[in-house]
Amino acid sequence: MDRVKTILHVLNEMFPNAQCELVHNNGFELLIAVMLSAQTTDKSVNLLTDSLFKKYHTPQDFLQVPLEELEQDLRRIGLYKNKAKNIQKMCQILLDQFDGEVPSSQVELETLPGVGRKTANVVLSVWFGVPRIAVDTHVERVSKRLKLAYLNDNVHQVEEKLMRKIPRDKWSDTHHKMIFFGRYHCTARNPKCDECPLQDLCRYPNINVRKNG
Ligand code: SF4
Repeated sequence: MDRVKTILHVLNEMFPNAQCELVHNNGFELLIAVMLSAQTTDKSVNLLTDSLFKKYHTPQDFLQVPLEELEQDLRRIGLYKNKAKNIQKMCQILLDQFDGEVPSSQVELETLPGVGRKTANVVLSVWFGVPRIAVDTHVERVSKRLKLAYLNDNVHQVEEKLMRKIPRDKWSDTHHKMIFFGRYHCTARNPKCDECPLQDLCRYPNINVRKNG
């Protein structure tokens, strides 16, 4: 088996049910949750959205409160002021240009404030079922450790390499499995190298931890 097939096989064995861990009931909630997740754990976002989504259901709801009130509702997570501002701007654009709906194209999604390529990829993949590989901190770290990308590649280069090496119909699924692998096994600090089935394919089979890991 070649190295990519081996990696996909092992990830599948380890995390057969990997999926998006951001709790959401529709595409709009997913978009909000992904925007909130920047530099914050999914767990923290879920704790917040559990109450947030009881108060705010639609773009109109987010625009009906003063910015300061939304800031207070988000204050438990990092960068909350910036996130509150972007959410209100994003909601206004949804109403003005997209009939209040989350757009389903990459280009349109990326016109929204606070929505970059990674956020757009997550929404496209998870909500619209479009094959995508969103490169977050876990996917980037795991790709580099497993020599699927060079250490000095930026996130776009990592994404391109993964898309070239992984079959298109496995992009979205592999993205979730790589996140789980990075979140629960090949963590930034103290990865579980001793019990890692991918040691032979790893750039640092015995780190705990190195600077560029
Ligand atoms: S050997 Fe360690 S660093 Fe390498 S992939 Fe496994 S857990 Fe990650």
